[in-house]
This record gives sequence, structure tokens and C-alpha cells, in this order.
Amino acid sequence: MSPALTAAMLAVAGAFFAFTMLRRMAPLFAMRREVRTDRPRERLAALLRYGLGQQRLLDPEARGSGILHAFVFFAFLVLALRTITLFGMGFSESFHLPLLDPRTSWAGIWYSIVKEVFVVLALAASLAFLWRRLVTKPDRITRSWEGNLILVFIAGLMVTDLLFEGAQVSAEGGDLLAFGFDVDLSAPASSVVSAAYRGLGLAPGTIAAIGLAAFWLHLAIVLVFGNFLPYGKHFHIITALPNVYFRRLPPAGALRKLDLEAEGASFGTATVKDLSWKELWDVYSCTECGRCQTHCPTYVTGKPLSHKEVNRALKHHAIAQAPALTALARAKDPAAREAAAARLPPITTVVPPETAWACTTCGWCETACPVLIENVPRLVDMRRQQVLVDSTFPDEAARAFKGIETQGNPWGIGSNKRTEWCEDLAIPRATEGGEYEWLFFVGCAGAFDDRQKKVSRAIVRILREAKVSFAILGEEETCTGDAARRLGNEYLFQLQAQANVEALNGHGVKKILVQCPHCLNTIKNEFPQFGGNYEVVHHAELIARLVSEGRLAPAAASALGGAAVTFHDPCYLARWNGIVDAPRAALAAVGGLSLREMPRSGRQGFCCGAGGGRFWLEEKLGTRVNQNRVEEAAATLGEKGGVVATGCPFCLTMMKDGVNETGREESVRVLDVAEIVADALPVSGAEGARAAASPRPG
Ligand code: SF4
Ligand code: SF4
Repeated sequence: MSPALTAAMLAVAGAFFAFTMLRRMAPLFAMRREVRTDRPRERLAALLRYGLGQQRLLDPEARGSGILHAFVFFAFLVLALRTITLFGMGFSESFHLPLLDPRTSWAGIWYSIVKEVFVVLALAASLAFLWRRLVTKPDRITRSWEGNLILVFIAGLMVTDLLFEGAQVSAEGGDLLAFGFDVDLSAPASSVVSAAYRGLGLAPGTIAAIGLAAFWLHLAIVLVFGNFLPYGKHFHIITALPNVYFRRLPPAGALRKLDLEAEGASFGTATVKDLSWKELWDVYSCTECGRCQTHCPTYVTGKPLSHKEVNRALKHHAIAQAPALTALARAKDPAAREAAAARLPPITTVVPPETAWACTTCGWCETACPVLIENVPRLVDMRRQQVLVDSTFPDEAARAFKGIETQGNPWGIGSNKRTEWCEDLAIPRATEGGEYEWLFFVGCAGAFDDRQKKVSRAIVRILREAKVSFAILGEEETCTGDAARRLGNEYLFQLQAQANVEALNGHGVKKILVQCPHCLNTIKNEFPQFGGNYEVVHHAELIARLVSEGRLAPAAASALGGAAVTFHDPCYLARWNGIVDAPRAALAAVGGLSLREMPRSGRQGFCCGAGGGRFWLEEKLGTRVNQNRVEEAAATLGEKGGVVATGCPFCLTMMKDGVNETGREESVRVLDVAEIVADALPVSGAEGARAAASPRPG
């Protein structure tokens, strides 16, 4: 081999790589700071699970390509040691890493066998990927010459490794004779290559020349490949594992709290500099695999939002703005910082406002992404800029804000009407100071929306049947501010959160029952930012718990008469808070129902279109999200129709609207889990009489 050539190759490639990486990393120092080094154990666990375990790649929806990717990933890990050995051999032909010489150690033999297996698997995988890209062309894949070139590089690495090793086997001779040719047991694949050399009648000198050429070509591909990575989407080969380590830790459903008092603080994302360093790292890590958009409600219904495209646009933008960002990072005084910041174009030139407003914050993209890229906070920060600074936001959002501001609910109905739904139910108020176990946080929909008031009453009936003591805040309750926060109005959200926390803490509340997953997420995950720490449960959870404790025994749901029922998972229940089994357990407790699952269910459920405050906005572009979901529910229920069950006031409305819009009023009903359970309770005594007097659900 040639030490001089090896050293020269390493020096040139290393210098160019360092130059590129400095240019890529320098902008990170200009970005918003964010701590992502806390709770190292949880981070390491995530790294093992999602990084080394490749968990997200092996999900059932895209398992085929996931397995192929895993082959390539593990081949790279195994080959890393081999690559070090090969560069060492460039300096000294007999070089071997300690313990990895197959001629002298068992570890070396086993390593060699494993490496050979993965080389073959990775070669097969890269050829299969090329076939997909060039022949089958699945929708979610971005077709680019870069992707093809990378696959050619990977296949080239595997082929040159086999050609070189095959020549080594030929030169050294195998230690067993099998099937008529020499076999080196520590190099089974290379033995086949060696046999092929001989089968072709190549002279030893020719074999050695092929081996030598393959050796140098392999090293050259490694160096060119490594230098090429930061220039395209395969940068993720370098950034993905750190990205997984620096992931957002639970609670995932909590958005960051803005410090609205801080001097000079940014209130959202005006330009690329307002992204955090992790958000830039996120976009560097995007593999452009498209998993994020397969069930993105906005993407599949034709809205102008593709998480993959947003990442791509931001990455190219950040790279284009690297000189200004680097100048910003280096600026010492405020004037220089201001001058550097002024060179940056508005973020809306890259991510248009309609893209930021299209997101329902359903979270599909985040749970699908194999490298754990975070999308929702980034889009909400863009909304924050438009609401808090630019004052350019949809009129419908302004109406919802005004309602919350003036009446404590987005409908803007008089706050003095908050308890009208339960005037005849004599529910204790927390203000009365009596003993109670659960504070029933009714929520704006449960108190003001006529349809959801029936759900509130059904919950009361269930609680009384199970002899659960509870109270409500009554007129002290006000909107949690979930929609305000997700529509970008952090200021209004913080006012709402503070008012609620003050009331809840003032009454010494410890346990809260909610009927809305948005209330659940906000009270459980975001109120702690304001000093409110409570045990918060959704009514489906409490029902399931009461049934399992034997305190609640629903019988057959008489009104439903053995109907087919499918549960639509609210995103803020299943995806953001992991509550999947409880509603199903509650439904299963009701006799006589034929429970069915939609193809997109549980954490992989499909949004109804209402999240992220979208309930309050017009849906003018593309097709309607709720109709897409209703079609799926109707197909699941079958020709006779049945019931779509849910556990969220906004899902209930969206699904009901979708049923009407698609002309299915006669065959499909939309009910809350609580209504189905309450309807299956025995009617007896005063409670029964009161329940019977209540309007029927649906
Ligand atoms: S954001 Fe994640 S899921 Fe979407 S294309 Fe990028 S890597 Fe794939
Ligand atoms: S959060 Fe939901 S709506 Fe928003 S981009 Fe992700 S998948 Fe699409």
C-alpha cells in the first residue's frame, strides 16, 4: 500500500470536510438558545430505542423500506471499524485493530462474519432502494439524482469491499475445501468472490491488481461520500443520531412558554435566526423520507403544507443565509447584531403564512418521523410572530380571541351563562368549600355548546351512578386558552392559564376530571408552567377505572341496539397524551356493541381537522379533513352504518358535520363515549328520572 497516498487523501478530504462542517455549524451559534442536555438517561434510552433500535423505521406502514434502511444503517456501523482498518492498511499492509484480526482472534473471526453478512444485506438493500426510486417510485419519496448517487456510493462501498476481500482470500487461500473451491470461514461472501475470480480463470497477478484497485477505490468512495453528505439530504447520516439524543422530552404536548416581559425577547419566528439551534439541527436531519405526510390531514387534503418540504425549504434558506447568521453569531455589540439581523429576509418568504396556518397540530408528523424532528412548535412560533408582532392573522381567529378575552370562551357567549347547562342538576361548587374528590373542569364546549352540554350531563349521570364525589368551578372557570396558544396568541393564553391556576390552586384542587382532550393537554402539560400541578384524567379514563373497580356496570346500550361502533381517537388524547386503551375499555364495558377499528387508529389515528385552533378557522383550501375521516369511519362501519364514538367536543362536531356533509345522517350517528355508557346505565330513582328527562344524545 502507500502511506504517502493514504496520508494525502486523508489530509485533503479531512480539510474539505472540516471546511464544510464549519460552514454548516457556524449558523447554529446565532440561533435561539435552548437546553437539550437535561435528563441524560431518558435521552440515552431514546437513542437506543429510536437511533440504534430504528424503532420508527420498522412501523407497519413502511416496514419494507424500514428493514432495508436498517440493513444499510447496521452495515455502516459494522463497516466503520473495517474502514478504520483499511485506512490503517494504507499505511501498513498488516495493520489490524486490536482484537479484530481474524487470523489471530475469535473476536476478529466473528466480526468478519458479521461484517460480511451486513455487506451483502446492505448491497441488496441499496439495489432494492434503487429499484424503488427508478421503477416503483412511491409517492412519498422525493426523486432526486442525489438520492440515486448516494445509493450508487453505498453499493460501490459494498462491492469494492467484497472485491478487495475476495482478492485477500485468493491470496491467502481458504482453510477448507467445500463445493470444489477454497472457503475462508471468516469471510463467506468474499470466498464466493474468490471462487468467482478462479472460475473466470484470472491469474493471481490480475486478482491482486483487482484487489488493489478495489482497495483504493473503496477509500476514495469513503472520502468523497463523507464530504458529499453535508451538501444534501444525506447530511442526516451525520446529524440524525444527535438529533434523536437532543429530542424534546415529555410532556411532548406542552408548547414552550414565552417570557413576555423579557427585554428584547422575540415573540415568535420573524426570521431564521429566531429558530432554536435544535430547530436548525432538525431541518439538517430531515431524510426527506416523506413518512410525515402520509397521514398529515393537511397534506392529504391538499392544503399547502408538507412537513418535508418545509424542512427542505428551511434548510436551503439557512444555508443561503449562513454568511449573515455567522456574522450575527460573531457580532459583539448590539448595533452589529442589529445590522447582521437586518440582512435576514422574513421567514414568510420561505414558509408562507398559509402553510403555518394550515397545521392542525395533530402531531402525526412528529410521531411518524424516524429521526424525531419537531414540527408543531416551529409552526406555532411562526403564528406567534404574526399574531403578537405583525397583527396579520385570519379574521376568524380574531373573533375567537375576542370571545375568550371578553367572555372567557371562544364563542363569546356571556360568561354568566357558563352554568346554565346544569341548573337543574344541583352540582356542588368548589366555592362552597365542601369535600369532593374530583374537580370536574367542564370546559367551554361542555358549558356553551348545545351538543356538548348533553355530554356534560351524561358525565354527571355516570359520576352519580358510581357515587363519585365531585364539584365544578362554575362561573369561576374560564377557557384554558388552548386554542389561543395554538393560534399564536401566547399573551391571551397566559392570562387564561393564570386565571385558571389561581382559581384551582385557591380551592386546593388536586384531581381534575375533563371531557375535552385539549383541556386535558393544557391543564396537565402546560399549567405546570404557571404553578398548576394536578392529576388530570379524561372522562374515558375515569369511566374505564370505575368499571374495573366494579363501581360502574353498564348493561346493553338500549338506544344503540347492537350497533357497529368505531372509536375516532382525538389527537390530543391518543397521540399527544397516549390515552388509547381507556376509551376502548369504556366502550367494551357496554354490552351488545360491535366494536370495530378504523385502519388509522390509536396513536396512528387521523385528525378530524379541528386541532391547533383550526376549529375556529375556515377551511377554504383543498378537500375537507372531516369528510376524509368520515369516509374511513363509514367504510369501517359497513353498509348498515352505526356509531362513530369519540371523546372530544371538537371531534364530535367535526365528525357530525362530516356525516351531514356526506349525506350519511340516516346511517351514521356520532356520540361521545360518555353518552354511550350513560345510555347503558340502569334507569332508577331520581337520577334515572332526571336522566330520562334529559334530551337524548345525538
Ligand atoms: S420530517 Fe421526518 S418523516 Fe418527514 S421527511 Fe423528514 S425525516 Fe422523513
Ligand atoms: S401536526 Fe398534523 S397537520 Fe400539522 S404538519 Fe404535522 S401531521 Fe400535518
